[in-house]
Amino acid sequence: MTTSMHRSHRVAGALVGSAVGDALGAPFEFGPAGEFSRRFPVPARGSKTEMCGGGSLGWAPGEFTDDTQVSLLVATSLVEHDGLDLVDVFDRFARWAAAGPPDIGNQTRSVLSSGRPWDVAAAEHFARSGHAAGNGSLMRTTPAAIWFARFGTAATTDAARRISALTHGDPAAGEGCAIFHELMRVALDGGDPLAAVPWALALVADEHRDRWATVLAEDWTPDRATESNGAVWPTLGQTVWALREGRDFAEVLRLVIDLGGDTDTVACVAGGLAGAVYGMGGIPSRWASVVHGRVPGHGDRVWRLADLQQLAAALDTGVQQSYDPGVIPRIGPTEVLPGIWAANLDGARYSEKDFAVISLCRLGEPFEHELQRMAYVADNEHNSDLDVVLADVLEDMAALRAEGHRLVVHCHGGASRTGLVLRAWLMRTEGMTADEATAHVAERWPHLGLWNASFTKALHRMGARC
Ligand SMILES: [Mg+2]
Repeated sequence: MTTSMHRSHRVAGALVGSAVGDALGAPFEFGPAGEFSRRFPVPARGSKTEMCGGGSLGWAPGEFTDDTQVSLLVATSLVEHDGLDLVDVFDRFARWAAAGPPDIGNQTRSVLSSGRPWDVAAAEHFARSGHAAGNGSLMRTTPAAIWFARFGTAATTDAARRISALTHGDPAAGEGCAIFHELMRVALDGGDPLAAVPWALALVADEHRDRWATVLAEDWTPDRATESNGAVWPTLGQTVWALREGRDFAEVLRLVIDLGGDTDTVACVAGGLAGAVYGMGGIPSRWASVVHGRVPGHGDRVWRLADLQQLAAALDTGVQQSYDPGVIPRIGPTEVLPGIWAANLDGARYSEKDFAVISLCRLGEPFEHELQRMAYVADNEHNSDLDVVLADVLEDMAALRAEGHRLVVHCHGGASRTGLVLRAWLMRTEGMTADEATAHVAERWPHLGLWNASFTKALHRMGARC
């Protein structure tokens, strides 16, 4: 964890992390405990990864489920209305439910299909059933937690409760969302959400506090849960437990998915908070690169990584920006090192489709290649997570090379970020020093750019570790 990380990395990490958790956990939903680690005892970095798809609903690899679908409805409503419009959010939910999504919680379905007005549907359901503390409002609350974080504790916890109450009449569910919002606010500010748990508990209504304090206590473990993790308490309890136990984003998700049960939802909640803590660069590129899905009832648009990153930025700043790199003269691909080709953006975009693509910049329109990894590196000195990202990229490259793939490494201009990875690859595979690797690449790739001093420093750190 680093407190110097730029806020934008945390914001993107939160939204993308929640979608990644959802998609990663979906194939294991309602399966036995430990299934994820049995199937993937070590990281799967080749062409087949842990984003395996399947499950009882037949998800495609990387496809997100209802958790992210509904999250996106909250997110787009907030951005398009420049704030919370509960009627609009409920209306979006209802249109989604009416479109027959493959996966929808029982409680959410009965509230949204009741035909009752937005301000009474959930309360009436709760009065009738007495059961309304499922995790279905917590699972979709990451976008609102991002949006309201900048307005402070009171505003974000208030919004959490109101959005939860649209479908979950039990205030206990709203209190869980309020705690989550406050932990997210702290994490996005660069603080430690675990240290903020006592503070967040103080915000909970008196009659609900004990039950929340139990599952968020430092010595609570998932085997002490008194309900299945379809309920809101163990879902947040498992999230905080995994954040406490895990050493990085991937381990946090492995821990929660290995608990079994409602794996997509718990991983979605945990992925949101862990993404804020570890940042976009802490999310394994092999997972983030393939995350995608549609939102039933809301058009045919396919949401992908870049769309989620753009939406996350809009949630944090209130400003929507789209990215179009335009048409740039192609450079490459050129084989610079054995099996490793280099290019600029359009050189890689129009390369042969059997290349495995290592992308280090924003793309604009998606590529058509089947195998592509997108790593989050900015062409500046503000990549506080550069060592983690670089290690992730190199491990993936090694696994893909071992399968016999030709790799094309590219960034926008093919100069600085591409040069960083080519140099690091030489250090890793040939045992060169940073200076030797720089000289070697410069001779073979005249586009090499060395203007980011922090990149060369990262290579020297890498050399010192080896
Ligand atoms: Mg789901």
